[in-house]
Amino acid sequence: MATNGEASDVYARMGVKKLINAQSWVTGLGGSLMRREVFSAMEEAGRYFVDMEELHDAAGRVVARACGAEAGMVTAGAAAGNMLMSAAVMTETDDVRIERLPDTSGMKNEILIFKAQRNHYDKMFEVPGARLVEVGMPNVARRYHLEAGLGEKTAAVAYIFAPFLKQPLTLRETSEIAHARGIPVLVDASAMVPPIENLTRFVREGADMVTFSGGKGIAGPQNSGLLAGKTELIRAARKNYMNPASARASVVRAAKVSKETIVGLVTAIELFLDSDHSAIWNDWRVRAEYIVDRIRGIPGIRAVVEEEPNRQGPQPVIYFEASWKGPSPESVRKLLREGTPPIHVGRGGYRDEINVVMVNVQKGEEKIIAEALDRILRGSQDSNRPSKA
Ligand SMILES: *Cc1c(COP(=O)(O)O)cnc(C)c1O
Repeated sequence: MATNGEASDVYARMGVKKLINAQSWVTGLGGSLMRREVFSAMEEAGRYFVDMEELHDAAGRVVARACGAEAGMVTAGAAAGNMLMSAAVMTETDDVRIERLPDTSGMKNEILIFKAQRNHYDKMFEVPGARLVEVGMPNVARRYHLEAGLGEKTAAVAYIFAPFLKQPLTLRETSEIAHARGIPVLVDASAMVPPIENLTRFVREGADMVTFSGGKGIAGPQNSGLLAGKTELIRAARKNYMNPASARASVVRAAKVSKETIVGLVTAIELFLDSDHSAIWNDWRVRAEYIVDRIRGIPGIRAVVEEEPNRQGPQPVIYFEASWKGPSPESVRKLLREGTPPIHVGRGGYRDEINVVMVNVQKGEEKIIAEALDRILRGSQDSNRPSKA
């Protein structure tokens, strides 16, 4: 099942089950799998000492180039990216302010966020001492909401891209409004690559800083991330991360990255940029269609391959129609999780659906998934067949 080690039983020795991850790059299932080249680069990096500032400079240039930005740096994930962006806009490169965080009295310390974009990870912006201030209504926002929200204490506007998350104003409109007042825009686009075009898209659309996870679609170390943007802001983020001039470590020190992680992410970025993305996309589609074909013709089940932008690549989506007589989507997910091997699939989307996210489904695993779905869905419709449902 594993692509990176043939008969590896390291998990078995610890009494931990391996599983099939058809739920995307979720941290709870281990994120993504690094390629061999990434492991060997990390192993090599671990054999020598280097000046970490020099390594960060070099890695930052790779991140900047990949994102089409003036500057970049490696972070301990996109959550850490949010912390660093927030710290950077509040302190800029001022030693005194950097040392004072998370006490932000006397600083611009408010970060605006659309009410419709509140999310699981936005608290990270508050860790260095900023306060999130909501603008707009639960599902919409108008230009005047944002304009009225910008004030004396506004340090930045946060803008989040994530599957199924609303974009009340476009990033271009948001940037235009914020920039007219000299206020930077910070983008969390953690899980937005692939498609590869998104690496450069947000800077082009006005982001002053943008962060991506290294351990999601880029398949670098799980605890890595990219942060790219304007030179002065990246300088401020770097100084917050590690300030050689300071007597005390800053609050962002808690998000440390190792030399092995930095080298691993740089290697993963280079592999990602060199990949044949349309071949990978097609392979996901072919294997998604295989699953859909296997579960065709079950009364009350509508299974289709969808690949619109909210989907992370082509994926089977299973809709349960009103006429469906079998187990609920949640029960099906539970049966899949409790099988051998355990299979984790996605939920949510537009309705109470099951989606099979292909990005982490290893070659051949689509057969195991199709077999399990077929058994659970069809079995529950056919009393002559043995069924676990
Ligand atoms: C996954 C995710 C994060 C966290 O990213 P890490 O790299 O795991 O720290 C932050 N923001 C959004 C929108 C995410 O989807």
